[in-house]
Amino acid sequence: MTTTNSSGDVRLSGISKTYGSFTAVHPLDLTVPQGSFFALLGASGCGKTTTLRMIAGLEEPTSGTVSLGEQDVTRLPPYKRPVNTVFQSYALFPHLDIFENVAFGLRRRGIKSVKKQVEEMLDLVQLGEQARKKPHQLSGGQQQRVAVARALINHPKVLLLDEPLGALDLKLRRQMQLELKRIQTEVGITFVHVTHDQEEAMTMADTVAVMNAGRVEQLGAPADLYENPRTTFVANFLGTSNLIEAEVDTRSGEEIVLKAGGGKLTLPSERCSAPTTTGGKVLVGVRPEKISLTHADDAGEIPDGRNRVTGRIADASFIGVSTQYVIDSPAGPELAVYVQNVDRDTRLAPGAEVVLHWSPAHTFGLDASQDIE
Ligand code: ATP
Repeated sequence: MTTTNSSGDVRLSGISKTYGSFTAVHPLDLTVPQGSFFALLGASGCGKTTTLRMIAGLEEPTSGTVSLGEQDVTRLPPYKRPVNTVFQSYALFPHLDIFENVAFGLRRRGIKSVKKQVEEMLDLVQLGEQARKKPHQLSGGQQQRVAVARALINHPKVLLLDEPLGALDLKLRRQMQLELKRIQTEVGITFVHVTHDQEEAMTMADTVAVMNAGRVEQLGAPADLYENPRTTFVANFLGTSNLIEAEVDTRSGEEIVLKAGGGKLTLPSERCSAPTTTGGKVLVGVRPEKISLTHADDAGEIPDGRNRVTGRIADASFIGVSTQYVIDSPAGPELAVYVQNVDRDTRLAPGAEVVLHWSPAHTFGLDASQDIE
């Protein structure tokens, strides 16, 4: 087993964690590229915090190794690893002002002249004006930025963030996501971020590992995971997926044709993670915003080569920039379609007979024997 790597990557090799007879993390291989913003995403209890804590050294792995760059750190205590962790509870020192909170790590190492470094760090997190305030005088988002500054001042190779925005309200959370991304880009060190919020992971991370029941189900760039999920869990965790039960009709090299809802659907082979023997069952998915709607009377206007299913509008609601339709179809109940820039006059009303159509390139195929989460 490889226990070193030549770059500054974080590498987990066969890492696992069991508590008694319960396996929190199954043996897992994962490489976090140096300088990337990497998210561990999953529902509560899926093992993401345990994985993060094994990188930090706060949890001893049951098997496997953790290496940082060329160094195997598996047996090193946390304080000897070139990593720092920011927790959801900011854990600032209440009696110290912001400057001294940030300076803490330097002073503990016996460094006397801290002013320049602390000021630079406070500027980085845009708190230069708040240096002499106490933590309780700052907002939640500002306190979290102090926690980030305090961690970064030690120049870790990797910053670990365990649900750091979990205590913030939604608006502040969104602001802090962009702020953390900006900070990461500016300092250029590796960030490993744990979250259960798919939007947060998608906004911030270059690479996302979607975890489920102690395993990484899929790893990839946010857009790839969203547009080409390989399991029903990933498809549904990252958004609405409109899964339609289909049966393989024919397969020719690059294309699979499936029977569904009385019609046929086409799918590029590389976008199908299910076995594709003729007659086999596949769940066909398409994201709601990739679907167009045409009134059944105008179906002749739909260009050739589009996937299409018929349906009837069950519900139409105007949500800010888009109109969200719910459609009953022989292909599946309650298909979701989001259409932007619909004005009042052209909005389709409940009861209207419609054709849903979309490009085969936006279609994905999943193994129908998997549980639908
Ligand atoms: P959350 O978002 O709720 O923190 P998580 O995905 O981070 O969830 P972990 O904290 O990694 O999940 O926990 C994974 C599983 O391991 C959970 O079922 C949890 O109950 C279990 N677990 C974690 N720590 C221990 C422990 N010290 N003893 C026993 N079981 C544990």
